[in-house]
Amino acid sequence: MPHRLETESRKLLGRLREALAADNEGQARLDSVVNLIANSMQTEVCSIYLFRDTETLELCATKGLEREAVHQTRMRLGEGLVGRTAKSRSVINTADAPAEKGFRYMPETGEERFSSFCGVPIQRLGDVLGVLVVQSKAARKFTPDEVYALEIVAMVIAEMTELGAFVGEGAALSARHQQPVMLRGSVAQEGASEGKVFLHEPRVVVTNPISDDPEKENDRLYAAIEELRKAVDNMLVGARSADTDQIQVLEAYRMFANSDGWLRRMKADVENGLSAEAAVEKEQSLARARLSKSADPYMRERLHDLDDLSNRLLRILTGQGADAKADMPDNPILVARNIGPGELLEYGKKLKGIVLEEGSVGSHATIVARAWAIPLVINAKGVVREALNGDPILVDGEQGIAHLRPDDTVHAAFRDKLAMQTRAQERYASIRDLPAETKCGNVISLQMNAGLIADLPSLAGSGAEGVGLFRTELQFLIRNQMPKRAELSALYSRVVNAAAGKRVAFRTLDIGSDKVLPYMKPNDEPNPAMGWRAIRVGLDKPGVLRMQLQALLRAANGGPLAVMFPFITQIREFRDAKAEMDKAIAREKILGHPLPSSLEVGAMLETPSLAFAPDAFFDEVDFVSIGGNDLKQFFFAADRENERVRKRYDTLDVSFLSFIERVIKRCEVHNTPLSFCGEDAGRPVEALCFAALGLRSLSMRPASIGPVKHLLRRVDLSEVKAVMDDAIANGDQSVRRAVADWLVYQV
Ligand code: PEP
Ligand code: MG
Repeated sequence: MPHRLETESRKLLGRLREALAADNEGQARLDSVVNLIANSMQTEVCSIYLFRDTETLELCATKGLEREAVHQTRMRLGEGLVGRTAKSRSVINTADAPAEKGFRYMPETGEERFSSFCGVPIQRLGDVLGVLVVQSKAARKFTPDEVYALEIVAMVIAEMTELGAFVGEGAALSARHQQPVMLRGSVAQEGASEGKVFLHEPRVVVTNPISDDPEKENDRLYAAIEELRKAVDNMLVGARSADTDQIQVLEAYRMFANSDGWLRRMKADVENGLSAEAAVEKEQSLARARLSKSADPYMRERLHDLDDLSNRLLRILTGQGADAKADMPDNPILVARNIGPGELLEYGKKLKGIVLEEGSVGSHATIVARAWAIPLVINAKGVVREALNGDPILVDGEQGIAHLRPDDTVHAAFRDKLAMQTRAQERYASIRDLPAETKCGNVISLQMNAGLIADLPSLAGSGAEGVGLFRTELQFLIRNQMPKRAELSALYSRVVNAAAGKRVAFRTLDIGSDKVLPYMKPNDEPNPAMGWRAIRVGLDKPGVLRMQLQALLRAANGGPLAVMFPFITQIREFRDAKAEMDKAIAREKILGHPLPSSLEVGAMLETPSLAFAPDAFFDEVDFVSIGGNDLKQFFFAADRENERVRKRYDTLDVSFLSFIERVIKRCEVHNTPLSFCGEDAGRPVEALCFAALGLRSLSMRPASIGPVKHLLRRVDLSEVKAVMDDAIANGDQSVRRAVADWLVYQV
């Protein structure tokens, strides 16, 4: 019996192929498909529902329901049995549809006459595109083999809709891909840009979902699997010298690549008439639907493995995507589910914008995008499904919005925004070589934050006086293996050379918390931001710190050197870290290497406790740099990565400012140079208030230097201070409102 039905499903696919090859298109083609399925399966009804937008399904073709209902009947995701099939991404098969939970009577279709219902999601790579439904008067459940045949057919339909085969009167899916869509996400890097969609992982287009030669297809499938296995084995060979954790991950990969179950299912699909590519996609879709429902994080991780392997297999089979970058359009806007910092670095600065479906404000990819001032919107749900390569797209990094295929009105408003941005850039460029001197004659030193060699050209372009924070961990994060000392030393000396005499404050490795090195065993800590991180790791396991200090001393090559330690909370930690530096110097001396002509050893103040350190600390330290990002999260007990709590607390809150003022005063008393290098230093109003409190050195993203300098040059700090004092005397929670109101009359 199953064999007969499998043959039936092959026959059905054969007929489907003929229907697809026929000379009709759009609605006519869609109609012929539902007719064919209804006839083959001997059901009174066969219908196709497709998503009109992300929430609404529309009846797009039917055999058996009222024809007038086509393009009229709609339901929301989750509504009725069709909506439930789409929402649950699973088959609903019932002999008594009207008795089923959620059944919705739609008089225009006349469907109450039908008792049995079988709905199969039409999905592609885990995205549900619509629902294929068969219904019959007889009260019977469809057999597993019939359901299987429907799944196979749904797979083929998914490919057809994707190819734009069903352009109905503004209703089919490919039509959806022509509509403007606004995607609301979150701000990760400000700025506005206009360009063309460039998909990080271009959709593999399967043009031949059906095959009539299962044997040949199976040979292709086996050959591709063999190639995939070899590739995974090679990755393992390459990883031999790496950390055992990485090998474990690759072993899991290999296990999947060799999984008999996976291969068996794909083979069965091919024997039933699918092409090898369509079989891979079908299993990928089903596995994704199953696993994405899993609450088990381990299983969800495996989903990524399986997904990755399936994509590789598809690329091998279709020969597509091997050199994706060749097709990069002009003004590319990268669209991806997520991206790692290494991949982003490979694309380089030619990207005009980035829109991610996932991502986070503190991710390493975000840090790279910010360093390059590439507008970045994260958490833009649905963008990968909605966007097609080459689509026009506008990225509004100010609002955290992406406009896909924008209409003329949106476009015009956006162009105004871009023009304003350009005018502002011209204004900033005109003051680039002027000092950030206020009207009252105070000069604020503006420096830039960096972490990559690629950042260094901004030193000249932005007008920064130096690098106030060089995050050395980025170099560790973008590698698969711990860098060697010689590599580090070469890298740091390139930084020193590129800085061409300007001061660079190198911060030693700040890992832990959200910065996890792929080749270091992760610590399962309940609260990693307050856990074993930064200098705590450096002092407990000093091997890497020592290597880094030595590399830095060598990179200085007899010139000046400034080094600072992250996350110093007490004098003891600073002294221990400084002792490591002293030992490194002693070693270099013995080896006869040149020592730096001058050496500054500083500490980052990132926890409130350091502001209360003994006087001796302020005497011993060569400079202090306030790491406002961490300091603020500990001051307000609000996770910097948690958007919900982070936004509750204002940097210009009176209590936070009075704390900063305290640090400024303590440093003044001890003549200790002080700087501020958190993100807030690059926000003009914040920078202004810090300067009014007495801060004379700020380090920020290069793109922020222009706006901050522009504002500083127009104000008198004593006036700003008076406004702040008034607000404090008024009992205001934050001085923001008062300063903003005052600024309105200054510019
Ligand atoms: C900070 O905490 O403010 C800082 C500059 O360091 P990071 O953002 O790298 O933690
Ligand atoms: Mg920090």
